[in-house]
Amino acid sequence: MFNWKGSLLALAMVSGSVWSQDAFIVRFNLNEGMKTYLRANEFDITGVNYKTNEIEALLTQAELDQIQQQKSAVIKFSYPQSLSAGPDEEYKNPDEIEDFVRDINARYPDITMVKSIGKTLEGRDILAIKISDNAATNEDEPAILVNAMHHAREVMTPEITTDMIEYLTSGYGQNEDVTKWVNGTEIWVIPMFNLDGNNKMWNDNSMWRKNTRDGHGVDINRNYPTGWNSCNGSSANTRAQDYRGTAPASEPETQAMMNFVASIKPVFNISYHSYSEIVIYPFGCRPNKTPTAQAVEVVGSEIAKKIQYKPGTAWELLYNADGGDIDWMYTTHQVIPFVIEVNSTNEGFHPSYSKWRNKTVLRNRPGWMHLFSRLEGPSLTGKINIADYSVIKILKPGTNEILQTYNINSDGRFYVILKAGTYDFSFEGSKLKKLSNVSVANKVSVNF
Ligand SMILES: [Zn+2]
Repeated sequence: MFNWKGSLLALAMVSGSVWSQDAFIVRFNLNEGMKTYLRANEFDITGVNYKTNEIEALLTQAELDQIQQQKSAVIKFSYPQSLSAGPDEEYKNPDEIEDFVRDINARYPDITMVKSIGKTLEGRDILAIKISDNAATNEDEPAILVNAMHHAREVMTPEITTDMIEYLTSGYGQNEDVTKWVNGTEIWVIPMFNLDGNNKMWNDNSMWRKNTRDGHGVDINRNYPTGWNSCNGSSANTRAQDYRGTAPASEPETQAMMNFVASIKPVFNISYHSYSEIVIYPFGCRPNKTPTAQAVEVVGSEIAKKIQYKPGTAWELLYNADGGDIDWMYTTHQVIPFVIEVNSTNEGFHPSYSKWRNKTVLRNRPGWMHLFSRLEGPSLTGKINIADYSVIKILKPGTNEILQTYNINSDGRFYVILKAGTYDFSFEGSKLKKLSNVSVANKVSVNF
């Protein structure tokens, strides 16, 4: 039986630690009532566990007292989760990420290029590394974007991206699949996105999540314009962990990501978070799940199967979330985007590095690898004259029912990821061309 007073005493005895508040990770039964209650009180919900059907929150003693008075029956059990110690030192800080990226670039100059996509609030360069056969040039290839750590305390997530960078660079010319992917794709990786927040996490508060705006911080992943402040999926309270900021895209980090995505127009994106062992696809607000989401749902479920995580929307798996990056990418640039939450409630935000680092990156490899092979799967691709056609409508065969509308890239390229099936395609602009009853079992290339 867990003893609160004993643990409080133990925590209090840790002096000079980076974690100084009396806070606990507390577990509850996962149900709609509990989710609603935790959200309504703006408690810091940290993760879910679909194996045990539990939900966790990071609570202060006062918050815990409040819940025990109001909802005592729903607490299943709880524990302090090595909060006082902070993460193992092997996890990377912003300087180590920069060193890592520069080192890779020095070792593999032909197939990598480093670019700053913008500066953080505190002036750090947000680095992206491009991995492709002619990395320095803009190639006629589909792009894939992978980023980690919108949230500062999620220290396992840059391990996934740095593992990916190492795997792809060291395997080039050695591993057949890797060589094919690097030759045929423009791979962009942002190994650590919330650099300021992560610096604060190491130096000041091991449970820090947001950026560092005005001391209170903004949750960058509630700051994107699509659906911003639309469904009670973020907070107006500066102290809340999901504080959305004063306006859509108010944060320089958000703006940097938006400008970058607009410039590379990725076909796929993965944003790595922790924890819960789930794969999230758009949209974040209940009950938005439309027929146009078919392809994104199918691919999300395929990834989830590869890594044995649970797929769904944020509102299905967690709670309403508005202003998130994937909704914006999907709506504005037709990216097929995912949030992958690595690790379970048993590991939390700061798993033992020696026990969990390799296990976690290995488990996640088949997930991101699937996107490279999925470019060859059911899809419509090609290049046309943008002066003639600007939009592709994907229609149910023999009808005018629009399943999806795709805006052709400004260079005339298009990569429409589809669920396997038969479609009519209507290319529209100053000219009109219709392709009827096209069976899409794999990649279909169209040029006219
Ligand atoms: Zn997160």
